[in-house]
Amino acid sequence: MAEPGSSLAIEENVALAPFTSIGVGGPARFLTRARSEEHILQSLLFAEKRGCPVFVLGGGSNILISDSGFPGLVVKVELGGIRAAADGRVSAAAGEDLDTLIRLCIDKNLAGLECLSGIPGTVGGAPIQNVGAYGDEAGEVISLVRVFDRRSNRILELGASDCRFGYRSSIFNTEERERYIILEVEFALRPGGTPHLRYEELRRRFAARSSIPSVGEVREAVLQIRRSKAMVLSENDPDSRSVGSFFKNPVLDSDQADRVEQAARRRGLLRTSERIPRFVIGPGKQKLPAAWLIERAGFSKGYCCGRAAISGKHALALINRGGASAEEILTLMQRIQERVRETFEIDLRPEPVFVGF
Ligand SMILES: Cc1cc2nc3c(=O)[nH]c(=O)nc-3n(C[C@H](O)[C@H](O)[C@H](O)COP(=O)(O)OP(=O)(O)OC[C@H]3O[C@@H](n4cnc5c(N)ncnc54)[C@H](O)[C@@H]3O)c2cc1C
Repeated sequence: MAEPGSSLAIEENVALAPFTSIGVGGPARFLTRARSEEHILQSLLFAEKRGCPVFVLGGGSNILISDSGFPGLVVKVELGGIRAAADGRVSAAAGEDLDTLIRLCIDKNLAGLECLSGIPGTVGGAPIQNVGAYGDEAGEVISLVRVFDRRSNRILELGASDCRFGYRSSIFNTEERERYIILEVEFALRPGGTPHLRYEELRRRFAARSSIPSVGEVREAVLQIRRSKAMVLSENDPDSRSVGSFFKNPVLDSDQADRVEQAARRRGLLRTSERIPRFVIGPGKQKLPAAWLIERAGFSKGYCCGRAAISGKHALALINRGGASAEEILTLMQRIQERVRETFEIDLRPEPVFVGF
């Protein structure tokens, strides 16, 4: 249906599962594809007129949609355009594919995004949870985020410090959740810069080399590691029908981490000299690998629960084995959370955004 007086095309009762990487979820009451900033404004007016809620959809790679779907308007952001300046600043519209942008930056020999190669989704989705991989996070190179502020009805520019990036978090998925629609992101990259090799598995790949690897070589190494864990979307790999990591790695202070270790020892899950792997991520803050906790709590890769399962290649990814319902994914999620809580006395928090529950 076309909205009178606007160029907006609205579809009704649209199945949402095909718009997501995990392939789960019911229909949207309304769906529109916003290809211009004007479309975004028009779609918000459309929803306001009908008093229906709005969900902003990017690439659908970090969401779990309920079986009953979404009872309002889904605005799929398809804004396009990329501009690169000579000083390493690159601006991309929110609907651009993140990995296409990364490849383009690598072709221009710009360092800063190579470790994020292979992460699915859009440029606009990247700041939401401050996507990260192999020791790097998008927030380290994001210099500006242009947004539409649904509270003041104005377009604003937020600097990196306004976004308050943290581990899998920003203002966009915490205190200001759903307030802003991201229109454009500016990255400040390093022309001819040295790639980061912060992650052990990545460092090992280049350990025998005397020269520093290029950004392109680091991208290829990252993609190889990710493919081995089904962390790159592929039609040929059913283990990639997921939302990526389903759980965040718990971030604890040293006392809390010690208590988790003591719980594991009491249950005979750690030998006396053995430690739970810990990654220091800031003063007094340590990240414990959720995949390790899940496996030690007794779940193996490939564990099935109806049509949902743990990926055969990564204990942190829950997959749709074919025709899974959101209920089945949630049942598996809860089973894992309960067993990890009983075993380690710690809560695993889910990473994806739950829509329509
Ligand atoms: C195989 C696989 C591997 C993955 N690996 C990683 C990884 O290594 N690291 C990592 O951090 N993540 C990873 N992810 C998760 C996911 O790719 C990222 O979170 C991605 O940034 C989500 O972007 P999206 O465009 O798909 O967002 P969506 O899934 O469409 O939406 C996610 C959230 O962002 C909001 N949103 C999206 N676009 C906008 C916008 N323009 N304005 C306002 N809000 C918006 C949505 O409303 C929703 O709340 C992986 C996922 C998969 C399937």
